[in-house]
Formats: sequence, C-alpha cells, structure tokens
Amino acid sequence: MTVQTLKDLLDAGVEGRTVLVRSDLNVPLDGGEITDPGRIVASAPTLRALAEAGAKVIVTAHLGRPDGQPDPKFSLAPVAAKLAEILGRNVQLAGDVVGQDALARSEGLTDGDVLMLENIRFDPRETSKDEAERVKLAKALVELVGDDGAFVSDGFGVVHRKQASVFDVAKLLPHYAGYLVGAEVEVLAKLTQEAERPYAVVLGGSKVSDKLAVIEALAPKVDTLVIGGGMFYTFLAAQGLSVGNSLCEESMIDTCKDLLDRYADVIHIPQDVVVADSFSADAESKVVPFNEIPDGWMGLDIGPESVKRFAAILTGAKTVFWNGPMGVFEFPKFEAGTRGVAEAIVEATSKGAFSVVGGGDSAAAVRQLGIPDEGFSHISTGGGASLEYLEGKELPGIAVLEG
Ligand code: AMP
Repeated sequence: MTVQTLKDLLDAGVEGRTVLVRSDLNVPLDGGEITDPGRIVASAPTLRALAEAGAKVIVTAHLGRPDGQPDPKFSLAPVAAKLAEILGRNVQLAGDVVGQDALARSEGLTDGDVLMLENIRFDPRETSKDEAERVKLAKALVELVGDDGAFVSDGFGVVHRKQASVFDVAKLLPHYAGYLVGAEVEVLAKLTQEAERPYAVVLGGSKVSDKLAVIEALAPKVDTLVIGGGMFYTFLAAQGLSVGNSLCEESMIDTCKDLLDRYADVIHIPQDVVVADSFSADAESKVVPFNEIPDGWMGLDIGPESVKRFAAILTGAKTVFWNGPMGVFEFPKFEAGTRGVAEAIVEATSKGAFSVVGGGDSAAAVRQLGIPDEGFSHISTGGGASLEYLEGKELPGIAVLEG
C-alpha cells in the first residue's frame, strides 16, 4: 500500500480543516536558549504549507525527557517562539497537552492559525507500553481536531517509536506523510536500493553495541566500511592489542573479532590515533601507531595518517553514509579526525557523490565545526530512526502510514 503524502492532502483541499501535525522539535537548549534550531527549520515547510493553504494547524511535539508530568524546564515555549519567527506568523502555545486550554484554543482556531500543544511527553500516556493508555491519549488528540480532521506525520526523529502521537493517532485519522518524513524516507531508500558505487559507510561514535545491527546490515552491501571514534578500540582489543584507557566494550570483543574475520576486505580501521593522558580538553596528547597505545593513555581521535587514508577512500566514493564522530570533537584538540572525514565527504559531494549524514552527533559535529549543511546531499534529522531504517527494521511511525 502506498503512503498518502502532504501533497495529496493539499490537493484535496484543507481550507477550514483542522490538521494535527507531529513534528520533531526536540532541539538542544542551554539555559532556555535554543543552541541549534535545525529541527525547527526542517519542520517549518510542512507547517507553512498547511497554514498557507488555510488549514487550522495543531502541532504536537516533545522536548527532552520530562518524567511524564509538566515540568517548566521542558516547556515548548522557546520552541513556539522560534517557530513563529521562522514562519513569520503567530504561533500560540497551549498551557497543557490535551486539557481544557488546548481544547478551548483548538475550538477558537481560524483558517491559517497555528497552535502548538505543550510538550506531549508531559503526558505519561505518550510513551506508555500499554496500548490502551496510548490510545486514550490519541483519542484526546483526535478530539482536538474534530470530525473532518487529518493527521500529518512529519517528525522523522520519532518514527521509530511506537508512541501515541506518532503511531496510535495515525490509526484514528486520515494520515499523510509530511515533507520531512517523505524526504528522509526517499533518501534512505536510495541508500538501500539504488546506491551508486563505490559505496562507503563511515561509522564512529562511542559504542559498538549501538552500531552492531547497522554494521551487520550494511557490511555485505557496501564497498568500504570505515570505522573510527570510541567504538574502534573494541576492534583493536579484538586483535589482541592494548587499548590503554580507551573506551572498550569487553562484551563485544568476540563480536568484533568475528566482524573483522568476515568483512576483512570491507572494514577499514585507523592506522594511527591521537592519545591523551586524560579525558579533558587540555589533556597532554600525542600521535601513536594503532598498535602502540601506551598504558595509562586513551585514544580520543584518529591520527593524521588515518585521516589521509580515509579521505582517499571517501573522495573517490559515489555514495557515502556517515554516522558518528571520529573522535571527541567536542574538545578542539581532538576534532581533526572528524573534520578531516567531514571535509572529504564534502569534497566527494562536490564531485557528484550522494552523501548522507545520519543525524545525532554527526549532524551536531558538522554544525559545530562550521561546515555548511549544503556540503552534504542530506543531513538527517533522525539519528536513531535513520540507523533503524538502514538496519532493515520496520519503523512503526512509517508502517502505520501505509495502512
Ligand atoms: P554516539 O552517541 O555513540 O554517536 O557517540 C558520540 C560521542 O562519541 C561523542 O560525544 C564523542 O565525543 C564520543 N567519542 C568519539 N570518539 C571517542 C573516543 N575515542 N573516546 C571517547 N568518546 C568518543
């Protein structure tokens, strides 16, 4: 069954209809200030299109991990203000999720108005494992949009979650994929179905256990799998080498040994690393070969020789997927590996490669390093969701749109 899209909904006409949109507006905050509005910017086109077409728009989203109860620290107030600025139109914020205020405000909406509900995770039913509880919340959301309402799923970062505002509500209303969800799925489908070769995947970040399923899914399909970041040290330990105080997941050593055996011709690991005498921004550091990590030191970045080798692979690739930094890029002293890999992917892209940055920390790294988003073909807004898609898992928030 095919998924109905926002275009289908707009073509059918939405003037005067109330449309509930699930967006992913989970932006990083520092002292109440939004430090990276990327997800709000990415969510705006769907909301703008609906408001301009005369729909009464109700946006639902989460922020952080409140404990299933209202908590001013996690109010969507700064997000509503930022969205209003981006859309250039008023965005009201309800004082509750589906309570009296949300109901009164939704009844008062006129065509083109935008109403944001308070943080959906203030309601414990949103993430409940009990389907009946989730359905109760979904029904309360449906009540806000009324009889001829519709649901647009646009929060790509949450489509791998079976939650009330992502999954259950879609079963109760005519449902459509928003622009962002549509674009993300199109990009990921391209990576799984029609990737042009050579196809290189770069994986980093802290834990092998988080990436194991995606390694298993992608290793047989790609030409090169470059591994860096904290997860690399478990691969070193798997070769019987000393990792000093570097991150190492003991329980994954045998798995890494097995992966190295099975995919010896595909997996590329760093030849040198930058080691530090402590986990801090101003630690003493030096470059050492991968098999000479001194006792008491920890690897916090890949070394210059590795950057050179990885860059040579990446600049020749026609398809690149990258998830996870090569080192502790949050400390300027250990950002060079991540920067080098990012720049090589940008160069490949400028030569016509199709490149995707898989959300989360890699997207944050790109922005922190000051590399323009346009350097890549696509920066995903959902780290977890994009990994699960590539692992071949069914994403409940997408599957439900097919029904
Ligand atoms: P993840 O959330 O698994 O994608 O991991 C991202 C985090 O991994 C970032 O915060 C990096 O600082 C961290 N990281 C990358 N390389 C290393 C390393 N060699 N040692 C410790 N942490 C690392």
